[in-house]
Amino acid sequence: MNHVVSLVGAGPGDPELLTVRALKRIEGADVVLADDLIDPRVLALVKGRLLRVGKRGGCISTDQHFIHALMIKEAGAGHRVVRLKGGDPFVFGRGGEEADALREAGLDVEVVSGLTSGIAGPAAVGIPVTDRRASPGVILVTGHPGEGRTEPDWAALARTGLTLVIYMGVARAAHITAQLLAAGLRAELPAAIVSAVHTAQQRHAVTTLADLPRCIAREGLASPALLIIGEVAAHAVPAAISQAQQVNG
Ligand code: SAH
Repeated sequence: MNHVVSLVGAGPGDPELLTVRALKRIEGADVVLADDLIDPRVLALVKGRLLRVGKRGGCISTDQHFIHALMIKEAGAGHRVVRLKGGDPFVFGRGGEEADALREAGLDVEVVSGLTSGIAGPAAVGIPVTDRRASPGVILVTGHPGEGRTEPDWAALARTGLTLVIYMGVARAAHITAQLLAAGLRAELPAAIVSAVHTAQQRHAVTTLADLPRCIAREGLASPALLIIGEVAAHAVPAAISQAQQVNG
C-alpha cells in the first residue's frame, strides 16, 4: 500500500469547529506540518512532531517546494503525515498544488474537509450569505490572486448581484471597492469586514461599500479577514454584541 498524506482542514480557529475526522488525524499524526494561520489551541492538540511552515497570510508560502519535499520525505520514511491548513484545505491556500505534488511522488492523498473561513466568518457575525430575500447565491473569491495570476473580473462579479465573500482582500480593499463601484454597485450597498473569526482576536465592522476602505483603516482591522459585500451584510450583529459572545463563548 502507498503511504498516505492527509491534507487536513483546521477550520477558522476554535478547535470545537474541527471535524471529528480532523481531530483523529491530528492526534494520530507522527508529524504535522502546520500553516501559520492555525490557532494555537488547535496546535496544542498535536501529539507528534509539529513543524511550522508557511508564513502569515497563509497563502503566500515561503517555499512551496520545500514543503512538498518535506512531506514526501516524512511520508516516505513511513511516518503518518498531516498537512494542517487553515479553514478548508482546498479553498485557496494551495491545497490543490500540494495534492498534485504528493500524487506525483507516488503518495496517496486524503483530503479532510474543514470549515472554510468564508462561510464561518459571515455566520459568526450573523450574516446569512444566501438569504433568499437578498441573494440567490454567494461567490467566494480571492482579492489577492498572486504574482502573475489573473485578477478576478470584478465588473463581471458585480453584475451577478450575488453576495461576494472576498478572501485576502484587506490590503487591496480600496482597489476592489473602486472596481465594484465603477461596475455599478451602489455606494450604499452594505459591506462588512470580519477579522480573525473564531479566534480570541475576532472583530468585525459593518459599513457601506463606498466607505469600506476607510472603515478598515478607522477600525484598525487587519488580515486575516474577509470582506462581505451585499445586502445580506446588513444582517450583521453590532460589533459590541459579537465580541461579548466571543468572550463568554
Ligand atoms: N483555506 C483557508 C483560506 C486560506 S487563504 C480557508 O478555507 O479559510 C487565507 C485567507 O483566508 C486570509 O487572508 C483571510 O482572508 C481568510 N481567513 C483565514 N482564516 C481566517 C479567520 N480566522 N478569520 C478571517 N479570515 C480568515
